[in-house]
Amino acid sequence: MQFNEVLDNLKIYEAGKPIELVVREYGIDAKDVIKLASNENPRGCSPKVVEAVCKEASKMNLYPDDSMYELKEALAKKYLVKEDNIIIGAGSDQVISFAVHAKANANSSVLMAGITFAMYEIYAAQTGAKILKTPSARHNLAEMLSMYKAHKDISVIFLCLPNNPLGECLDTKDVYAFLDQIDKETLVIIDGAYQEYAGFKDPAKKIVPSDLIAKYPNTIYLGTFSKAYGLGGMRCGYGIAQPQMIKALLKLRAPFNITNLTLKAAIVALSDEAFVENSMRENFEQMKEYEKFAKALGFDFIESFTNFITLEFDATKNSSHIAQKLMEKGIIVRNLGAYGMNAIRVTIGTPEQNVRFFELFKTVYM
Ligand SMILES: *Cc1c(COP(=O)(O)O)cnc(C)c1O
Repeated sequence: MQFNEVLDNLKIYEAGKPIELVVREYGIDAKDVIKLASNENPRGCSPKVVEAVCKEASKMNLYPDDSMYELKEALAKKYLVKEDNIIIGAGSDQVISFAVHAKANANSSVLMAGITFAMYEIYAAQTGAKILKTPSARHNLAEMLSMYKAHKDISVIFLCLPNNPLGECLDTKDVYAFLDQIDKETLVIIDGAYQEYAGFKDPAKKIVPSDLIAKYPNTIYLGTFSKAYGLGGMRCGYGIAQPQMIKALLKLRAPFNITNLTLKAAIVALSDEAFVENSMRENFEQMKEYEKFAKALGFDFIESFTNFITLEFDATKNSSHIAQKLMEKGIIVRNLGAYGMNAIRVTIGTPEQNVRFFELFKTVYM
């Protein structure tokens, strides 16, 4: 059967390998597999969330509250915005998809950094839009601006702050100076999947959504419960924008797009900010161990404002080989070979997991 032409050039997104796969293929016990490939919170989530979700489980015969009022109210309070500034998605991925489909089309282009979150390109290509990437791998606003001025058909710009899979992050004042140059008809998607981490490490990189959308009504801020809050498996994310934009995106949403257990989990997670604070502190303490380790072994890393670190190797090593050997020993990391890099992305684990990573890495690297 022939399908829509736009699908011909589309790749199927390859997610981080699951623990189950390593158990099946290498016969390693599930409890000995360490997954440092999908930037999940290695500390799990707040115990209050687990308790609340268990209690809620008996209600799974009921559809969730489709207005998602309670969650929107909690997010509105946290971010000092109104409920009509918020849209909830099954992961912020779903909100990215809504935003791109609401604005991009086959007669327009979508602009992004040279190496950034792979889904941006996939959602954009679904609409038939042309993809434009800066020559620089990391976010380079000067390059973005000159491309924006050279191509009159750009409908959507992506800024991933901080950037996955490289970990770098722009300063907010530079982002604002860039936004000052962008036409109000161009949608700018600010992906804050790791903003909790960036704001913790360096306040100059913190984006305040209420301020952002007040100054720039053509922007949408995206947040997720999958990273800092440790709820990747619950699939919950959100977008914050002006009500006119939220209304457009809501037209693309299927009813009941997240589960009632997810709603409960997200609401309770927001009530335990101490859990997030502690996760941030441990994350950056442990990241220092990775930096020390890289220096000791003599390879490069990119300074990271997230919960992962990208390790870069010289031509005498091969990242794909390293990732494969680590997996055979039960450690899953992300090889960035597909991005044209000789690098791996490693999620910062618990102290115990990281010690194990260092031990096993040495055996495959030396
Ligand atoms: C993890 C991630 C997301 C969203 O993940 P969801 O689980 O769909 O909320 C969005 N953007 C980036 C850059 C990410 O790394």
